[in-house]
Amino acid sequence: MKILGANVNARQTCFLVLSRAKKNTYFYTMHFTQVVGQQKLKARLISEVNSGKIGHAQMFLGKPGYGGLALALAFVQYLFCENKHETDSCGECASCQKVKKLQHPDLNFSFPSVQAVSKVSDRLLLEWREQVIEDPYFDLNMWVKKIDTKERTPIISIHESKEIIKKLTLKSYEGGYKVLLMWMPEEMNEACANQLLKTLEEPLQKTLVILVAESSDKILQTIISRTQSVTIPRVEMDPMRVFLCSEKKVSTTTADSISARVDGDLIDALEALGDHVDQAENKKLFIELMRVCYKKNVLDMMLWAESIAKTGKEHQKVFLKYALHMFRQSLLRNYTSDHLTKVSTDEDLFLQNFAKFITGNNIVEFMKTFNDGHYHIVRNANSKILFTNLCFQVMRHIHAA
Ligand SMILES: [Zn+2]
Repeated sequence: MKILGANVNARQTCFLVLSRAKKNTYFYTMHFTQVVGQQKLKARLISEVNSGKIGHAQMFLGKPGYGGLALALAFVQYLFCENKHETDSCGECASCQKVKKLQHPDLNFSFPSVQAVSKVSDRLLLEWREQVIEDPYFDLNMWVKKIDTKERTPIISIHESKEIIKKLTLKSYEGGYKVLLMWMPEEMNEACANQLLKTLEEPLQKTLVILVAESSDKILQTIISRTQSVTIPRVEMDPMRVFLCSEKKVSTTTADSISARVDGDLIDALEALGDHVDQAENKKLFIELMRVCYKKNVLDMMLWAESIAKTGKEHQKVFLKYALHMFRQSLLRNYTSDHLTKVSTDEDLFLQNFAKFITGNNIVEFMKTFNDGHYHIVRNANSKILFTNLCFQVMRHIHAA
């Protein structure tokens, strides 16, 4: 089986479409083929297994939308597969079947959980399986929404590390590797991290620990130094386009536009897609915001903030990302003579006049304001306050051009 990439052939595309077509049915199988892009990394992971030199602790590092979790699962399935091919697991042997259902007795999962809901991962395994099997491209925010209606902050606590130690010291059920796959280790609290560290310092035979992290910033340096780092790069544009066209059935133009602006992040691509019909609405909102802020019309600014606050969080997130894209494109337009810009024709017309307001004097502030806005919306900030505040910041930035 070949790896999904730019040169994906029609039969594979068809297989992918069929296997992903029905929502709410379990369709995700843990094949390398179904990880979007990442050819080089797949080849590296496959050769690691085939050479028998597998680092006992590895840290997969990259934004969730780059596919670290999907890669880690494909890697484990390949490792456990009893009939592996040169480029992928067979998908049919008993081990593959168990990994697919996330029910392999030697594959253990740890992930952040809201302590008031459950102190250990095991009690949320049903939800975890449902989420991962449906779509392994998700982030912490999406996970919290799934497990806690109050969307409280999740952590990996000492209760979990005690479980981990218990599980890893047991003998492997199937006589092969014992794997711990920890998703978002940056959410471990200190007590948990210290316990995990002990496990990493004294590696057990045939035990593999895979940490799938977004960023190493919040992780203890001592843990980082004991793991082999596997950097997950952004998804390349070609496979992203193929994915959007073949599986999401979007036109080539839409696939081009989305893959050009999401920086290799599949979660962002799917988010943009969800609101694709509203692209015109985003543009309208953006133009209106810039107009009222430029005119320093405070009453209109308040009305603008009120109107966007009435829309859903998902739409607000997409709008903020859309605005970031427009700022980047404006700057490109100003500083490159040839058109590197990736926008639709009517957006291009708008940028002809607007781009001059985005310069080296204010771009950093604009990006910060909208990035911060996105960060806080994701964490359930009050939209009305947030967007009112954002208007005043835009007013200052736009006059600093
Ligand atoms: Zn197999």
